[in-house]
Amino acid sequence: MTTPSKVLSVLDLRKQYGSTVAVDGISFDVNRNEIVGLLGPNGAGKTTTINMVLGVLEPSSGSIRIEGVELAKRRAQALARTNFAAVYAPLPGNLTVQQNLRVFGLIYGVKELAERIETLLTQFDLVRFRDVKCGVLSSGEQTRVALAKAMINHPQLLLLDEPTASLDPATARDIRARIREFARQGTAGVLWTSHNMYEVEEVCDRVLFVSHGKILLEGDPRTLPREHGKATLEELFITVAREPLAMERH
Ligand code: ADP
Repeated sequence: MTTPSKVLSVLDLRKQYGSTVAVDGISFDVNRNEIVGLLGPNGAGKTTTINMVLGVLEPSSGSIRIEGVELAKRRAQALARTNFAAVYAPLPGNLTVQQNLRVFGLIYGVKELAERIETLLTQFDLVRFRDVKCGVLSSGEQTRVALAKAMINHPQLLLLDEPTASLDPATARDIRARIREFARQGTAGVLWTSHNMYEVEEVCDRVLFVSHGKILLEGDPRTLPREHGKATLEELFITVAREPLAMERH
């Protein structure tokens, strides 16, 4: 069996709430070993897009393929190799680190789960927190547990919604390094949202700028600003957010 190079393929995706069009015909791919940044101001449609890819929200129209499998038609198969971490979806705080990993491992039907948990505890420097309840851990430690959980089923597609929000710079750097290593060495692709343009430049291979539910720009975060006459990614971001119509005409 050949392994497709695209882990995620989104085609003409739309989501409408009454008269509000949250996502307005978005198309993009995420390739294996690639980290793609989904950028855009608040209300642009990023979370709605991620929730549709996760199968939590049903699209109004369009298609989502994960590893070539159509989400709408073969949902369980498409989602089996997907996982997710976000600060607004913390793990149950009354369960210990090990219990949390076990619960999610069982949900995903992970084989040789005890061994997988040991590997992740070591990889994310969590061995000493094994029997500590997640609710009392620091933000950085909780993020490491959330990432360990997100990788428990060897996902081919990893969705990260602001994984480093609320972390101090040193901890955020450590988390970024772990995610980069995961993307480089494994067989997965990563879709990452962030408002930190420094982080995006450091981590993402490609960025998609979303505004009012549409992708306005796409490219390498290190060269894209110059291509549009801007000095930094932040400057470009602000221009796109303020003047989406001007960018659309480019
Ligand atoms: P982002 O994640 O980029 O901040 P969202 O995807 O959360 O943006 O929101 C995109 C747009 O869709 C916003 O205008 C938001 O108000 C609207 N929206 C999101 N969820 C709902 C909902 N459940 N009902 C109505 N409107 C919604």
